Amino acid sequence: MTNKEYANMLLPGIDKTVEDYEKMYPIRDLKENAIVTRFAPSPTGFVHMGGLFAAFISRKMAKQTDGVFFLRIEDTDKKREVEHGIEGIITDLKNFQINIDEGVISQSSQMGNYGPYIQSERKDVYQAFAKYLIENDLAYPCFCTEEELEEIRKKQESQKERLGYYGKYAKYRNITKEEAKEKIDNGEKYIIRLKSPGNFEDKFKFKDLVKGVIELPVNDLDIVIIKSDGLPTYHFAHLVDDHLMHTTHVIRGDEWLSSVPIHTQLFSIFGFKAPKYAHIAPLMKDTENGRRKLSKRKDPEAAVSYYTELGIPVEAVLLYLCTVANSNFEGWYDQNKDKTLDDFKLEFSKISSSGSLFDVSKLLNISKNYISRLTKDEVYNLALEYTKNYDKEMYDLLVKYESYSKSVFNIERVQKKPRKDLSMMSEIKKLNWYMYDELYYTYDKKYIYPITDKKEIETILNTYINEFYIIDSKDEWFNKMKDLSEKLGYAREVKEFKEMPASFKGHVGDISMVLRVALTSLNETPDLYEIMNLMGKERILKRFEDAIKNL
Ligand code: GLU
Repeated sequence: MTNKEYANMLLPGIDKTVEDYEKMYPIRDLKENAIVTRFAPSPTGFVHMGGLFAAFISRKMAKQTDGVFFLRIEDTDKKREVEHGIEGIITDLKNFQINIDEGVISQSSQMGNYGPYIQSERKDVYQAFAKYLIENDLAYPCFCTEEELEEIRKKQESQKERLGYYGKYAKYRNITKEEAKEKIDNGEKYIIRLKSPGNFEDKFKFKDLVKGVIELPVNDLDIVIIKSDGLPTYHFAHLVDDHLMHTTHVIRGDEWLSSVPIHTQLFSIFGFKAPKYAHIAPLMKDTENGRRKLSKRKDPEAAVSYYTELGIPVEAVLLYLCTVANSNFEGWYDQNKDKTLDDFKLEFSKISSSGSLFDVSKLLNISKNYISRLTKDEVYNLALEYTKNYDKEMYDLLVKYESYSKSVFNIERVQKKPRKDLSMMSEIKKLNWYMYDELYYTYDKKYIYPITDKKEIETILNTYINEFYIIDSKDEWFNKMKDLSEKLGYAREVKEFKEMPASFKGHVGDISMVLRVALTSLNETPDLYEIMNLMGKERILKRFEDAIKNL
C-alpha cells in the first residue's frame, strides 16, 4: 500500500489537496503591515466581557491598519454547543459595534471570500490537510479506547511522569499500514494523531506581542488532529484556518499560551509562516478578598447583556474597553476632545500582560463624562431606545413630550461644566420624574423644607408667584429672588446673613430651597431657574398649590 492509498483509506472521499486549497485562498491584497485577525468563539454560551474585550482589540487593530477583522465560529466540539449560540454571538458583537469585514453574519449567511467561516462546514478542508500529514508519515491512526487511554494516564501518574500521549506512551505511533488495515476491516474506531517530531527536552523561544519573549518546551505530544466524528481538534483547525484565511495576528485569551508550542510546530511541519500571537490576560476584579479574575459565574458584570440592560451607552463601554486595553487612552481622549476612538492608535505593547482591572464604577464614570458631552437630541435618542425595551411608561412620556423632554435633558448641558448625573439610561426616570406631571402627581412625595413654619412657607410661595415671578434672563430672575428675600425679611446674600444672623429670618438660599422643594419635592435638583423656566407659570402655580395642600 502506498502512502497515498493509506491516507485514502484512513480519510476516504477527500479529493482536494492542500495545494488545491491554497489556490482557492489566495494571498490577500492588502498594504504592508495590515493586520488580518479574527474573533473565533465557540457557540457555547453568552459572550462575556473577556471575549468582547479581545474582540474589541482585534477589530481595532485590524481597522487602524486597514486590515481585515472576521468572525469565525469554532463549532468543532458539538457536545458543548448551545442552541442559538451563533445568533447570540452575532447580536452581542453588533450591539457593541464590533463590526466584521468578513465571516458569519447569521446562522444561515456568511460574507467574504475566505469561507466558509463555520468550522463544521470545513470538514473536507481539514481532512485534506490531515491526509497530507499521513502521506508524509507525520500522522497516524490511533485505535486507543477510553480504557487504554485511562490505563496510560494511571501508569504515568504512578510513575510520576508527565501526562499525555507521547514517546513510549504513544501506543500506535509505529503502527504499520497492514495492522491499521486489519483493525479498520474489523470495524475498530480510530482518530488521527500528529506524529510529533519534537523533543520535550528542547526549548524554543517566541515573542508574544503582549507577554514579551517566552520560552517553552518543544511539543512532543502526539496530539489528536482529527477526531472520531471526522472533525478537527481546535489546534488543527487553528492551523488550517488561520493559514488559509491569511490571519497575520492571533489575538486570544492567555489560556492558549501553553498551546503555542503545538501551534508553531504544526505551522513549521507544513512549512507555513505562523501568525503573530498576542495573548490577552483575563480581566480582573477587586474584591474584599483581593484581586481575582472576573468570573462568568460569579460576576453579573461579566455578561455583556448587563450593560445593555442598564442602558450604558455602547460608546461608553467601548471607551472604557480602550482604557482597559491601553491606559494612556484616557489622557489622550481628554486632551483630544474633537477626536474619536477611531483616531487613537492602540498598541499591543501597552496591554497589561498580567491582567487589567475591570471596574464597573470606573466605567460608569466614563459613561457620565461621555453622556455629558452629548447633545440633548443624542441623549433623547439614547433614552428613547432604552425605555422602548425597558420602561414603557417613560417611553410613552418621551414620545408624547419630545421637544419638552429634549429641553429637560438640556438643563445644565450647554455650559462649560455640564451636568454629570446621568451614567446609564436606566436612571432616566429616577433623575427626571419630577419634570413630568403624569409621574409627579402619582408618586408619593416627602417635602423637607428648610423652615418649619407652614404659614411662612405659604407666604413665600404666594408672594413669589404673585409678585416676583418672571421669565427673563437668569440674572433678572436671581435679582427677583433677592428682592423677594428682602421683602420677606431674609438676607439678599448668604454672606450678609452670616455677618448679622439676628437681623434676618434666613437668607436667599432658604427662599430658593422652599421654592425648589415645593416645586419638585426634592432638596437637590439641577438649576432651579432652568426648571422654572421650562415648567412655566401655570404648572408652577399648580405645584405650589399641591405643596401647600401637603403642608
Ligand atoms: N475557539 C477558541 C476559544 O473560544 C478560539 C481561540 C482563538 O482565538 O484561537 O477560545
